[in-house]
Amino acid sequence: MSVDYLKHSASIKGRYQERKLDDALSLSVDYFEQVLTENKDKSTIAQAGIQLAQIYYTKGVYSGENIWIQKAIETLDSCQLIVENLANQQVKLSYYLIAIQSYALMDQDQNAQAYREKAIELVKDTNTPSATVQLQILLCKEAIEANDFDMAFDLVQKGISTVESASVSTLEYEKATLYNLLGRIQIMRQDIVETLKISQVALKISQERKDIENELIALNNLAIVHGIQSEYKEAMTYLMQGLEISTAIKYRQQIARCRINMGSIYAHLFNYKAALEHYKDVANEYDDVIERSAQIVLLNNIGTIHLDIHQNEEAIEYFEKAFQLASDSNYKELKALNASQLGRGFYHLGDNKRALTNAHIAAEIFDQLGKVNGIQLNLLNLGLIAHSEKDYASANKYLSQCVVASKTLKDDLTEIRAYRALSETYEAQDNIQQALTYLQIYTSYKSEYSKLQRSRQLLDLEIRYGIQHKQREIERLQTENELQALLLAQKDQIEAKNQELEEVNQELKRFASIVSHDLKEPLRMIGSFAKLIGRDKNTTLSTASIEYFKYVEDGVERMGKILSALMYYATIGKEGEPTKEIDLNTIVEICALHLRVATAESNATIKYENLPKIHSKNSLLVQLFQNLLSNAIKFRKPDQAPAITVFAKEQKDVVQIAVQDNGIGIEAQHMAKIFDIFQRLHAKDVYEGTGVGLAVCLKIAKRLGGRIWVESEAEKGSTFWVELPKTLVEI
Ligand code: ADP
Repeated sequence: MSVDYLKHSASIKGRYQERKLDDALSLSVDYFEQVLTENKDKSTIAQAGIQLAQIYYTKGVYSGENIWIQKAIETLDSCQLIVENLANQQVKLSYYLIAIQSYALMDQDQNAQAYREKAIELVKDTNTPSATVQLQILLCKEAIEANDFDMAFDLVQKGISTVESASVSTLEYEKATLYNLLGRIQIMRQDIVETLKISQVALKISQERKDIENELIALNNLAIVHGIQSEYKEAMTYLMQGLEISTAIKYRQQIARCRINMGSIYAHLFNYKAALEHYKDVANEYDDVIERSAQIVLLNNIGTIHLDIHQNEEAIEYFEKAFQLASDSNYKELKALNASQLGRGFYHLGDNKRALTNAHIAAEIFDQLGKVNGIQLNLLNLGLIAHSEKDYASANKYLSQCVVASKTLKDDLTEIRAYRALSETYEAQDNIQQALTYLQIYTSYKSEYSKLQRSRQLLDLEIRYGIQHKQREIERLQTENELQALLLAQKDQIEAKNQELEEVNQELKRFASIVSHDLKEPLRMIGSFAKLIGRDKNTTLSTASIEYFKYVEDGVERMGKILSALMYYATIGKEGEPTKEIDLNTIVEICALHLRVATAESNATIKYENLPKIHSKNSLLVQLFQNLLSNAIKFRKPDQAPAITVFAKEQKDVVQIAVQDNGIGIEAQHMAKIFDIFQRLHAKDVYEGTGVGLAVCLKIAKRLGGRIWVESEAEKGSTFWVELPKTLVEI
């Protein structure tokens, strides 16, 4: 590979790493084309193709649009043979890894599986740390995707030990990726002690390496960890950073994740309005890019807020959707969570029967899962239902269990509610002593809780004040992206329309020139035979018939002229004549020379002087002015010699040239149509012509970036005006 190529591919890589995808993509497309046309060595071609496929793939993931993934697959296909014959194992592995992910995204599982097997085989053979860890990362991501967190955990551990036993400096990217994956898995397993530490390492490595994607994931993981520990300000800071970056690089999935997390922080801060705004925006605009589990969590969160603000019907609607999705995908925990929330919704609506059914469904799953978040709420609900069914023994049991679970899960609010419910249950059983004890606990906690609530509301204000600046920056980026997308769509539309027009134009030109060309031959035949018959000495034809054949001859001659004119019209400006500086005096001089016979016959004079110079196309100008001058001679008054003057007016960027005659003039009502093809105002035997001349003038004037019009009055002569740019800019 030459230095040039190395440089090129490295600069694409740099842009890709910073996720300037549009830049990277356009460079990479050009580069791949270049190595193909220059027929570079196989390994260069393969690497350029793989790089391009990788960028397409990422663009597809970020935007959520499958056509990019399709392009990734097409690009891979185009260099498949080359790759298979390469000796370089690393190149092959990169190919397989992108292929696996692309096919998996397109639900072409068989193809994905085939490449997965190849990759596994290859890694076994090569056994280098780098290849091994790349495969482990991919498999780990797949395990997470399939919700198999034990498997994912196992793989990530293996990966980390591979990286740590190898020389670390070369596998920094893999290290950051693995730490991020581990963070994610531990968050899912609700085991966050280590997550903070490793996420900080991942953040540091990726920031140093300008590895944007890992930076984002690290920020997100850090935000979640802080959020779980009720450190909302820190969490929000990380989320804002993440949101800004993901908006800048148009990573829609990540934008959605950040906003979901921001929504839940706002919910914890009792700012339900802001929370709902984030959640609903994501549900409406990013539904296509978020994973199923995130969709369910989102619906659950929206439902929960509605429940908190006593909009029970809406709440139930969201929980039902979420429950359905969770059941379809067999996400046990999410299923339990939503069943439990459904139970609460129905309880608040006073429908104890359905409340109980759902609470039992939830309880059954929670029993299998152990003490996971959500169980405390279900216990509280079971207690409340039992109480309203006057089953106080069960109510006591559930509520006490709820207190224990809430303590473990650090859910203060539920714990407080349980105390109040316990107090009410004891009161209902006339155990005033116990009722009072719980009431006291409740009130003391409650006042503490109110304090907490107030301080969180304060924190909410503080956070919103602190992020105002970032918020504006993000909004600016967002509008910029939307504008860009709009422009791009418009550009595409215009390009498509232009293409269409160009095709229609070409088609028309071809049609006109073929028709006129092909018709000439049979016409010539008719003409010659008419002549032969009409002039046959031995003819038995009557004099009248011979006369008719003269008409046929005339007609044929005229049609020949029309066809030539048509062909000429169709092919104007086809040659692509160069633009140069032209003296308009010379143009008129040449035209006059061409028209010398007609001028002499009619005693015409053509006056011109001091015409300007312009940048334009020579032969088109000659055609244009020759037509105007010849018309000025032709449409003369029968008793007056044509006196023609050509003069010009200069303006800032254009010149206006007039061809003025003293001929028959044109009536106002005809002025518009004379520039149309085949439009003439006179019988052919009065003024000879085909009606193409002015149509040609109009076409040329337009082609030269100008326009043409006429000023005239019947009997008083005409002035044809041509306006042309001083410098023709070719499009
Ligand atoms: P043709 O000259 O072959 O008839 P053109 O397209 O050149 O066709 O002109 C169209 C019509 O415009 C003419 O038939 C004529 O009626 C009118 N015309 C053009 N130039 C002049 C002129 N200088 N004075 C009067 N009428 C004109």
